[in-house]
Amino acid sequence: MAPQTKLTHLGHQTEVSGGTPVNPPVVRASTLAFDTVAELNNRVAAKTQKNYAGYGIYGTQPQFSLDEVLCDLENGERCLTVPSGLAACAAPLLAFVNSGDHILVADSCYGPTRSFCDGFLARFGVETTYYDPLIGGGISALFRENTKLVFMESPGSWTFEVQDVPAIVAACQEKGIRTAIDNTWATPLFCKPLDMGVDLSIHAGTKYIAGHSDLLIGHVIARDEESYWAVRRQSELLGYNTAPDEAYLTLRGLRTMEVRLKRHESNGIELANWLKERPEVARILHPALPDDPGHELWKRDFTGASGLFGVELKPVSEEAVAAMLDSLKLYYMGFSWGGYESLIIPTYPERVRTAVPWKSDGPTIRIHAGLENVEDLKADLVQGFAEMKKISG
Ligand SMILES: *Cc1c(COP(=O)(O)O)cnc(C)c1O
Repeated sequence: MAPQTKLTHLGHQTEVSGGTPVNPPVVRASTLAFDTVAELNNRVAAKTQKNYAGYGIYGTQPQFSLDEVLCDLENGERCLTVPSGLAACAAPLLAFVNSGDHILVADSCYGPTRSFCDGFLARFGVETTYYDPLIGGGISALFRENTKLVFMESPGSWTFEVQDVPAIVAACQEKGIRTAIDNTWATPLFCKPLDMGVDLSIHAGTKYIAGHSDLLIGHVIARDEESYWAVRRQSELLGYNTAPDEAYLTLRGLRTMEVRLKRHESNGIELANWLKERPEVARILHPALPDDPGHELWKRDFTGASGLFGVELKPVSEEAVAAMLDSLKLYYMGFSWGGYESLIIPTYPERVRTAVPWKSDGPTIRIHAGLENVEDLKADLVQGFAEMKKISG
């Protein structure tokens, strides 16, 4: 072989003798080579098999391993990993609706999910009605002849309402309407929507699953093959592909998710309870607190809480809130959450709600309790409140 040919052909699959690595390999592939014409021609037929590697776009080893763990954790039939949480939210919306259909989406959903409905689906003649996240079984009053999907998110982004998922699912099943839920807050450990009859459970793996604020990834876990294929077909048509390195890092994050979540949970609850007693605070939005309106449903349907919650402050100017947030040393300001670090941002639920106006007298903020020492986190907020007082008087 000439050097040019060696460069092309040597070292593809080196035999290794010895132990087996604990972790799956990161397989980078666009092209997968087949040995025979028959195998090549059979690749389409074989595509329905789990972990089928026919072309890079269907995923490779670390993604298959990740799918397997997530699917098992949430008692699903199949899991599809996609490039971002938003891609995961969009996939079921595309899978179950056609032009002329109607969908129902929780008024408390993640903002970009809303943008997808209003900015994308609307262009193709799909009508979205936003519904009160607390509607429960009353959702059936909003059903139309052409309602195809009910999209839930519980607890809601920014406002943390807990939805009565079993009641909504029962109403939908009676009419053959599909259901999907954004389960990112709870992770596959703290809530099992498929066990409550939901067809598709969605995760921004970007958050707790990957857990280190260094990548974007999404997952759709399906209750049955049919729902899985409805999503998978759309994902293929759109050319969704997840980089193997991202899948590997997410699998690596997943290994420690349970121990991380325990700290996020306890830090979050501790901070929420502490903030509740502060004179600057009007209300805490955290379903694990016993006096939260969603607490009973949360206790029934969840086995834990993550570290993300909301705080409604007593009326104070935006400048005073900014002075507090700007002064914080341990809380970064930024979008996303679910990493090891604490975060804080101002939120504006009153600007986005359309089904039911969001009522609060003061501004709201969202806190992500990271893995730091909780007393340090409190001390930082104490000095932040002092900065706020300098402005508000
Ligand atoms: C962040 C987030 C998403 C989107 O995830 P990305 O990976 O950032 O696209 C979806 N749903 C919820 C509830 C989120 O918080």
